[in-house]
Amino acid sequence: MRSVTFDAYGLALSRVLYPAWERLRGRPTFDLLATLRRTERASLDELTAMRLGFLRRLVRHAYHHTEHYRRAFDAVGLEPEDIRTLDDLPRIPVLERAVAQTSVEQRTASWPAVAVSKTTSGSTGQPLEVRFSAESRHWRDATRWRGFGWGGYQMGDKAMHLWGVPAVAPTRFQRAKLVVDRKLRRDVYANCMVRSRENLLGMVQTIVRERPQVIAGYAQAIADLARFVNAEKLRAWDTIPVVYGAERLWPHDRADVAAAFGDAVFETYGCREFMLMGSECEAHDGLHESVENLVIELLVRQADGTFRLARPGEQGEVAVTDLHNLACPFVRYLTGDLATAQAYAPCACGRTLPRFGPVEGRVTDTMRDADGNPVEGILFNILFLNMAKHARQFQVVQRADGRLTLKVVPTGAELPSAAETLIREFVGKHLRGVPFEIEVVREISLSGAGKLRRVIVEPRAKAN
Ligand SMILES: [Zn+2]
Repeated sequence: MRSVTFDAYGLALSRVLYPAWERLRGRPTFDLLATLRRTERASLDELTAMRLGFLRRLVRHAYHHTEHYRRAFDAVGLEPEDIRTLDDLPRIPVLERAVAQTSVEQRTASWPAVAVSKTTSGSTGQPLEVRFSAESRHWRDATRWRGFGWGGYQMGDKAMHLWGVPAVAPTRFQRAKLVVDRKLRRDVYANCMVRSRENLLGMVQTIVRERPQVIAGYAQAIADLARFVNAEKLRAWDTIPVVYGAERLWPHDRADVAAAFGDAVFETYGCREFMLMGSECEAHDGLHESVENLVIELLVRQADGTFRLARPGEQGEVAVTDLHNLACPFVRYLTGDLATAQAYAPCACGRTLPRFGPVEGRVTDTMRDADGNPVEGILFNILFLNMAKHARQFQVVQRADGRLTLKVVPTGAELPSAAETLIREFVGKHLRGVPFEIEVVREISLSGAGKLRRVIVEPRAKAN
């Protein structure tokens, strides 16, 4: 299990430096984290009362302070006071992603102030601006640290992140800030986008040299690294907990990861819109929902266009209500992911938070460069995050012969040449030697359940 070596710096970080830093910045993350560690075992009555209070506050605020929700409520003859129990939530119309994209201004409330604004490409390849309040940020941070903690990733731990690279080079100031930030946190970052032998070997050397207490990152990158470690018999460490997300880890991947890093393997489910929505506990039996911060509904779209809740064992579209973001509310927002509903049952870990999963929406195919090295599909999300101004939607298809087609729906009449140059440089750098073309289109057709797959890799004919 975890290394028992006395880690004075880690202790100081988690107990003294972080809390002091957060308080200095006026962030109540630590107090919230303490609260969440209590409420994860609270009675269902207490949890329900807590969420209902937050929900009613959110609904009242959204109705009185945003143009979008006032109109949406009026259109169906609903008043905020009609939401008396959590069961009344389905009376509020859902927020489709396409509407969320075009209603940012109308959903932005007259108060509180927007503390953070960022763009997400989500799992559907269509960029969306997300704005949230300071309160929401604190809840997000605390929720994330709680969920990571179940997987053995505590604040102050030395973590190795298998993550992507920004598509646009950061400014010198941003770079300097990042270096200080990472040094303070002792984290190690490995660019996992291209999984060449050289790159994978570099990651193994980093693990041996840096001795991280936890590995976090994209599911498929961790799985590729694990397979490399196993095939080359490079494991030279005890169990290192693995916290993964952003993509699906299939059962055979999980076995590979366990063989390489031990069986402390934990799934997390989050997105840029809301951060951590669910995480796996030590019972490894589904994802506990972050109920103090969100309401997750799994909805089945019916023939007449209405929705019903998915039954246990049934898959539904993930709809999220963000309880603490009053600045630009998301109520019943359809994320584009699919997840399986679970009947409520107490978890072996003793936590009372309901569970759901697995999440099916995050299927990203892994591409190949000209030498056959695996290349992360999420790479293109990173690229298009930086191109939200120019592109509304994208899809990447790698044909059986390796050729790449990049379909782009521009925001304006055409794709600016600067944007095209950026794409060409980016693809040339990460998918070395792969011939590709950019196809500017008006729309991209949706596949099952309104879901757009952003990276499609066509199966290759057996070449060897
Ligand atoms: Zn549990």
